[in-house]
Amino acid sequence: MKLYNLKDHSEQVSFAQAVQQGLGKGQGLFFPEQLPKFSAQEIEALLKMDFITRSAKILSAFIGNEINDNDMHRLVQNAFQFPAPVKSVEDDIGSLELYHGPTLAFKDFGGRFMAQALVQVAADKKITILTATSGDTGAAVAHAFYHLPNIRVVILYPEGKISPLQEKLFCTLGDNIHTIAIQSDFDACQALVKKAFDDEELKTTIGLNSANSINISRLLAQICYYFEAYAQLTAKQREQLVISVPSGNFGDLTAGLLAKTMGLPIKRFIAATNANDTVPRYLETGKWEPHKTVATLSNAMDVSQPNNWPRIEEIYQREGWVLKSLGHAAVSDEVSVKTVQELDKKGYLSEPHGAIAYRALRDQLQEGEYGLFLGTAHPAKFKEVVEDILGRSISLPSALAERAEMPLLSHYMPDDFTKLRDFLISLTW
Ligand SMILES: *Cc1c(COP(=O)(O)O)cnc(C)c1O
Repeated sequence: MKLYNLKDHSEQVSFAQAVQQGLGKGQGLFFPEQLPKFSAQEIEALLKMDFITRSAKILSAFIGNEINDNDMHRLVQNAFQFPAPVKSVEDDIGSLELYHGPTLAFKDFGGRFMAQALVQVAADKKITILTATSGDTGAAVAHAFYHLPNIRVVILYPEGKISPLQEKLFCTLGDNIHTIAIQSDFDACQALVKKAFDDEELKTTIGLNSANSINISRLLAQICYYFEAYAQLTAKQREQLVISVPSGNFGDLTAGLLAKTMGLPIKRFIAATNANDTVPRYLETGKWEPHKTVATLSNAMDVSQPNNWPRIEEIYQREGWVLKSLGHAAVSDEVSVKTVQELDKKGYLSEPHGAIAYRALRDQLQEGEYGLFLGTAHPAKFKEVVEDILGRSISLPSALAERAEMPLLSHYMPDDFTKLRDFLISLTW
């Protein structure tokens, strides 16, 4: 597989390099040179396969001979140890539940495949993974790499801006997992990570590696559950399929669009955000004007400068699609709350992230269409918020209940690159 840097097309790398480097020069994102296409017949055959076999084929179509078929099957099997079921919510709407993994959010798919791929391509090299999280990436990455040899993980998150349970889920592990609460917001954490990657000396000294949604292996893994969703639909539902994606850094939507470029017949997508609405405003006005990030109930989507956006622009340009055709909506906290209640009355327990995608879909779905929205997190992952909204208690799955009792092992730091750099250098193997 060949990939190029979106900021400098002359920088070309293999899959192994892209997975290990994360970002290219000048903080550019890597993008596949070839976008593999399946014929209608090939899609038909893929849809009949089981999730693991099909996913290995999809990933091999991109990655090629850098990972042989047997290895790929094993990596995918290790990574995807949980289902992605479509649950019917209304006659014309279903929820693709991506939260049945160990940290109860869709990021388990990308995080676990990335961990597997990295161990595979890095052989015995020592690696430090540095990533910023607005909530869920951290937990997924931490659990995906926990106890893996020659790899340590450092996770930055905005202090007080993620849910207490989210924090417990990844800041209680210890061993090769280090967590740092930064006294600022998510964009500041992301900026610190980018600074570290621009620091060539630091990079080589500690074998720096990224693991957030910018890593191409995560995006490729996420393509697989769009196929898995499609495989579960009836012929009628497949005819005019609309998919609504609750978006923060826009990795999930990028993966969905890549599924479409491969030939999966998806009629259109809707990009649903919370009040951090840089993309919906951009699609309306043509002007890219990020505002200051605001805190919302759907905190994993509190991103005002989505870092995967250049990849989406690239897909539209390469495929000759019109960006204006991308559906979009920004949903306020007030409407998210009402929507969680509305879904509960229909007998479907949700949480603010998924509810935002449902709201946009319900409002924009047309006669004859079938809609899927992505359920990106388990309702219990946002227990306090959901209980507050519904006025009753909901139970915790056992993975969370056990973690909730453990002490936090985080370090605390101001938004100061020098301090972070010192910390990273001081870590020993
Ligand atoms: C990360 C996250 C999102 C946003 O996904 P992106 O790929 O960053 O757009 C949505 N919902 C939940 C629960 C998340 O954790």
